[in-house]
Formats: sequence, structure tokens, C-alpha cells
Amino acid sequence: MNNSELCAQELKYEMNLYGKRGIALERGEREFAYDVEGKRYIDCNTGVGVAILGHNHSSLVSAIQKQASTLMTCQSPFANQERARLLERLSMLFGVPSKVFLCSSGTESIEAALKLSRKKTGRKSFTSAMNAFHGRSSGALSVTFKEKYRAPFEPLLGPVTRTRFNDIESLKASVTNETAALILEPIQGEGGIRPATAEYMKAARDICTDKGALLICDEVQSGSGRTGKFFAYEHFGIKPDIVCLAKGLGGGVPIGATIASEEASAFTPLEHGTTFGGNPLACAAANAVLDTIEKDGLLQKVATDGAYMMGKLRTSLSQKQQFREVRGMGFMIAIELKVMAREPLAALLQKGVLALPAGEQVVRLLPPYIISRESLDTVAAAISEVVQ
Ligand SMILES: *Cc1c(COP(=O)(O)O)cnc(C)c1O
Repeated sequence: MNNSELCAQELKYEMNLYGKRGIALERGEREFAYDVEGKRYIDCNTGVGVAILGHNHSSLVSAIQKQASTLMTCQSPFANQERARLLERLSMLFGVPSKVFLCSSGTESIEAALKLSRKKTGRKSFTSAMNAFHGRSSGALSVTFKEKYRAPFEPLLGPVTRTRFNDIESLKASVTNETAALILEPIQGEGGIRPATAEYMKAARDICTDKGALLICDEVQSGSGRTGKFFAYEHFGIKPDIVCLAKGLGGGVPIGATIASEEASAFTPLEHGTTFGGNPLACAAANAVLDTIEKDGLLQKVATDGAYMMGKLRTSLSQKQQFREVRGMGFMIAIELKVMAREPLAALLQKGVLALPAGEQVVRLLPPYIISRESLDTVAAAISEVVQ
């Protein structure tokens, strides 16, 4: 079947949630993805920042193959080598003493963080930022900003107060001694790739400590090295009480993690849990991803190449009428336009570049960490051609 036949088949049988971009992807190799008609794309979409090692990475693939033929299922009451290793590594990355809960998606990692915050503080309410995105399950949805996502499903968790992002005064008014937790993305993803300022994150830390509320950093998109540090909050010299990971952590295999300081880790047995969380297959994939990030110095590469790419884009776009600004951190890059991003995104696809929106006027790039300079140059040139 060709691109349009496969899109039609999915549209016919899939719940009406996603829309299709007109192509069907069949396979991938490094930063390249290929559609069923054989056309090659440079993939700066990566399943919304999931395929951080690109496609068909030999270390990741062999780790998955090996684990698939060794043991895929092992409930948490039974220990397993891959899980034990991953738990220790994630805890070390956050800084010990800390505790880890493994799950299978971003929204689940947020649910665990919200429940944990209520358990730890005995308080009910949450504060989240305007334009925040934290997921689609009922708890995560409650702290997500967009009315359109929430309204049909009310009543959700509450009360939730919404604070202006990067506005310290607004934060002071929103976090009180009834707040269980303040949840923030250190760099907003779906909200348009908006980095927090260091002053803001420091103030958030201080205000939470002062009010006895927990600080949750949602690093589902910004974590696992996407910004050039393993956790984006490291750029700001602060440490949250809880951090949530998912998207890139398994390099394509579904896995999420909630990591909390030991002090905040207030769950008692069976208060929370999940069937698939911590399965050996996902843990082996995450271990291979972490090994590769370390072995190949990918954090440094993301930092350097991200700065290179943003510089390149600024230079090539600065004279364009439709161009507003380039912003981001590492490989979390936004090109904000003065026009809707839809048409430039469609034109990029035609030119063999997969990117994605982040709000209406932003073209977002989430390249795989392994992408070559040559491909980055090709992407920058293509963007310069489609922006007028
Ligand atoms: C994608 C995302 C989520 C939700 O993750 P899912 O795996 O889609 O449930 C939560 N928070 C942020 C910041 C995200 O980017």
C-alpha cells in the first residue's frame, strides 16, 4: 500500500484523534526515516523527541533483541538485573538518596508525582504554569493548561491554580501553604519551547521550600539529555523534589520514570503500581540508551550542535519577513514565525525534513542526538527556503 492508502486505512479505523500528515513511515536508519514509497526524510520529529539515538541504533537494537530472547516480563515483586541496574543509575543521576518509580509513559510518570505529592504533604491543591502540558490522563490533564483539552472532561483533580510562566510575582501569589506541589517544565515543550529563566526556577525552589510544597519538574520532553544536560533543571542550579522522565529514556521503547528525593518518597506498599512498569525489555532499552549517551559523549554533542544549529538558523532567517525568533536549549529548538507553522511544516515535509509544531506559529525541531552536522545544515537550508 502507498502513503495515501495507509493514511486512509488508519483514518477509517482509528479514533478521530490525530489527523495524518500524508505519509506512512516504514523504516529508519540514523537520523533518516523512509516512507513506504522509498522517500527519505531527515527526522527532526523523532516521535516527539523519542528516538534520541536515531533509528536502528545498533547498541539499542541489540540490547532489545538480547533482552527479548532472555526475559521480557518480570513483575516488580521479583527483582531483575536490568531493572536493578536502571533503578540505581536513575537514582544516581538525580543524586542519592532518592527513589525511583518506573512506568511506561509520560502521563503515568506525572500521575505518580501528583499522587506522591498529596501523600507526602497531606495537601490537595496543585499549582501549574500557563501553557503547561503535562499529559492526558485525568491527573496530568488537571495541571495541563489548555482549556480545550480539559473542558470536556471536567471535573478533574482540583483545586489547581495557574501561574504565569517566568513570572515570580505570580508564583508567590499562587503557591500557598495549602499547595501540595508546584509542577513546572524547565523548558515548556508543547507550550512553544519556552525556557524558564534561572531566577524563576530559583524562586520556584525557594517558594516551595518556604511554603512546604513540593517542586515537580516535568522533564518528560526536556530530560534524558535533550537540552545538553541529563536534566534540564541542572542548567538552573536547582534541584526539584520530584522529576518525571519518559519520551527519550527508552530511545523508542515505552518507559517512564518518576524520581523523588528519599524524603519525598512517601508511598507505602501497594499505594501505587503498574503492570508494565519496570519490565526487563524497557529497562534494557533504557540502560542501552544511558550507556550510549555516556560512551559517545552525547550530552556534550547536543550542547555544542544545538548552539551551532540555533546560530545557523538565526543567521539564515534574520532577514526573513515571516521570521520572529529562534530559541531553545540544546536539541529542543523553536523557530517562531509571524505566520501559522502549518504551511512551512508541509513544505519541509515535501523537501524531506520532518519537524513538528509547538503551538500555532512555532516550528519545533527535536533532532536525534546522533544527527550529523551535514544533516543539520541541510535542515537549516530547507527551513530558510520555506520561510519567506
Ligand atoms: C509528552 C509529554 C507528556 C506526556 O507524555 P505521554 O507519554 O504522551 O503520556 C507530559 N509532559 C510533557 C512535558 C510532555 O512533553
